[in-house]
Amino acid sequence: MSESISAPLLALNFCTNPACSAFGSVNATDYSMAKDRRNPQIACIRCHRISPIMWPDELSDEIRSQDEYIQHNLSSCSNKKCPNLGHNIQLYPEQYYAFGFSGDKRRYRCKACQKTLVDRFSVTNPHLKVHVTILALILTGFSLKEVADKLTIQAKTLNDHLKSMANMCRQKSTVFDHHWHNSAKRLLLGTDYCHLQPESDNGVLWICSADLDSHYVPQQTFNLSHKNRANSRRLIAKDTVTSINTAPSHPASHALIDVLQAWRVNHHNRSHRSNPLHNKTQLNYPVTSLLVTPLYSATAHFMQLDQWMDDKEHVVFSMPFEPMLANGALYGSPRLRHNNALDLIYQMDDAQWSEHKAGSKPQVLSINKYDKPWSLSEQWRLRGKAEQRAICQVVEQHLSLKQAHQLPKLSPISQYMDRFHAMFKSCVNEPRRKRRPEGLLPLLDIYRAWHNLCHQNKPGETPAVKAGISEKPLSLEQLLQ
Ligand SMILES: [Zn+2]
Ligand SMILES: [Zn+2]
Repeated sequence: MSESISAPLLALNFCTNPACSAFGSVNATDYSMAKDRRNPQIACIRCHRISPIMWPDELSDEIRSQDEYIQHNLSSCSNKKCPNLGHNIQLYPEQYYAFGFSGDKRRYRCKACQKTLVDRFSVTNPHLKVHVTILALILTGFSLKEVADKLTIQAKTLNDHLKSMANMCRQKSTVFDHHWHNSAKRLLLGTDYCHLQPESDNGVLWICSADLDSHYVPQQTFNLSHKNRANSRRLIAKDTVTSINTAPSHPASHALIDVLQAWRVNHHNRSHRSNPLHNKTQLNYPVTSLLVTPLYSATAHFMQLDQWMDDKEHVVFSMPFEPMLANGALYGSPRLRHNNALDLIYQMDDAQWSEHKAGSKPQVLSINKYDKPWSLSEQWRLRGKAEQRAICQVVEQHLSLKQAHQLPKLSPISQYMDRFHAMFKSCVNEPRRKRRPEGLLPLLDIYRAWHNLCHQNKPGETPAVKAGISEKPLSLEQLLQ
């Protein structure tokens, strides 16, 4: 059975098979909808790929939920119906009147809706000294328990400190993210994901995007939600039992072509290609938060970036071979696609691939006759095997094949995530946090701000300095005050 499919629905459900003649088509005649009330699906009539429907209102909910998290406790209008919602006082002073004081803190009134708010960042952080000590200890490798012991404070007190440090960091990040978004006409963004708590099996994914030139991380997203709307179709039900439990296919060797083949088979075996959690038969479902279907989180992640992309002339999204990320990028980048400004590529490199060295001329690599072909280039060494890079241009706009093979590596993103896992090893894998992933979110806010603004890869050079939005590295005092 089929019915006509509305334009808003098609905008989030068009065919994303790069080898299909209907790729990106929003022509309703290319699709048919299967009317199963419990599990409605949409099929591309050209390539016959079937996918569960992504619902526009559910995606709006996901974006709202991410916005609320980012803006929580920051100084901006919080009236959901106001055009100034989420506009930070520091970035949009013209949208507010000064409105006296509340204690020592400045009070403001929104010009659009008259709601008043208190700017908690208008006074110096009264706990600055202890916050700097906590962060310095964490960065030196002390576990949270050791930090609490050293400072002779209760775990609960430490937690409260971390939450208020996270607020400071989110405030700083909001300002620098704003400058980063406005800084460049051309962007090269890499995206990758991993399990937030690799040993916990709780289904929580961490999606990160980084500017591959400066290594600035403007966006990180988790598929966690705190609110449940009745019958929300974007959430993974607590009692979900997956029907498919296919053992993952392992590559026959470390050669890129074998790795690509194995990944392709794994994607094909998923009940839905964009869902890396499809066969989690044993999910330690979080106790107080809810899991979001990964594609919704990934799409909202790219939508958050896309809202800044009106003036961009050219943006390259690069990512490992993962349909969840590619489809999220395609559905989540309406402005970039509309402006013909987007190149989207899958990129896989051998670990020793050197981004400062030229590779050989790319050769066509056909993984499967139904897929869009990949291309492979090599860097020869004096001894041993050559290092390889494989590229699939999912969307080709401005980037030539040769240029695609010369892009920087994606490894700074995995290094960013690995460093977090190493720094917070004890609490990431703590058994009692298995079902309480939300406790890590303040640490992740602090970590991102520290990485972008304080952490120096070379003396004097932080990602923000390299991106040209900060003159010099911020000290821990400056980050937390
Ligand atoms: Zn198709
Ligand atoms: Zn307002």
